[in-house]
Amino acid sequence: MTADIIDGKAIAADLRARVAAGVARFEADTGETPGLAVVLVGDDPASQVYVRNKGRATKNAGMRSIEHRLPASASEAEVVALVRALNADNAVDGILVQMPLPGGVDANRVINEIDPAKDVDGLTETSAGRLLLGKAGLVPCTPQGCIILAKSVRTRLDGAHAVVLGRSILVGKPLSLLLLAENCTVTMAHSRTKDLAAICRSADILCAAVGRPALVKGDWVKEGAIVLDVGINRVGAGEASKLVGDVDFDAAKDRAAAITPVPGGVGPMTIACLLRNTLIAAARRRGLAQPEI
Ligand code: NAD
Repeated sequence: MTADIIDGKAIAADLRARVAAGVARFEADTGETPGLAVVLVGDDPASQVYVRNKGRATKNAGMRSIEHRLPASASEAEVVALVRALNADNAVDGILVQMPLPGGVDANRVINEIDPAKDVDGLTETSAGRLLLGKAGLVPCTPQGCIILAKSVRTRLDGAHAVVLGRSILVGKPLSLLLLAENCTVTMAHSRTKDLAAICRSADILCAAVGRPALVKGDWVKEGAIVLDVGINRVGAGEASKLVGDVDFDAAKDRAAAITPVPGGVGPMTIACLLRNTLIAAARRRGLAQPEI
């Protein structure tokens, strides 16, 4: 068997186009334009690239991009004060604080200052609690993207055995809850799990969010499984360096029914889902129905 390669770039482009159409409808209905504020503290080069890409994607979707930069020397109180000002600003529908924050600034404290109605990253305790309780809220972007990709292969995931490697609050835990909400039987595996290979082999949907290059071997993949590789790992040095996932792609594609590549799989979905969340937040804050996107 050779797997279908799940084209995350194309699926993300399609989602971004649907968000842009939703933004146009929102503007026609309200006379307003949704706005996403991104806070960047310090001068981490990778974070600067992420923030630039998010800003560009926001504008391309027809929304306002509001960028706030604070120096690496900013105190926790200054970052919190900025978040509170953005909470109070009616022109801001979504707030994203780019991680990592410089040492001395407590990321949890800052994240939990974000008004849950504007928490487009879905990382506040309120958003996490709402997801756990199955209540409407803003869902973390990367796990949301994984569900969209899985459903691009199989519209109903009911009854599938989903194995999620990794239990981070950013990916593994929320992804497990979303799969549960899709009526999957979910196994969460992590660094202390025994016989990971056997557990992976029992997965109809195998999701890897670990950050270890090629941890998942080809023979860990069940014939006909859907494989979602969230990992982003840089291997090799200099010109020869490249990005790989947590799955041995070349071996796994001979057993899976469908698999995401790295890059070009889960990665592009994250920003697309961020834009989707911003439009949803803008609609909910005005008491409008959730846009169909
Ligand atoms: P994390 O470091 O917070 O969590 C890693 C998890 O992997 C932990 O729960 C740990 O228990 C588990 N783990 C570690 N070693 C293991 C092993 N040998 N076997 C099984 N489980 C093991 O990482 P994260 O933030 O969840 O990110 C995971 C990966 O996903 C990283 O490569 C990251 O770059 C990538 N990522 C990609 C996107 C995207 O947009 N595609 C978004 C977020 C994270």
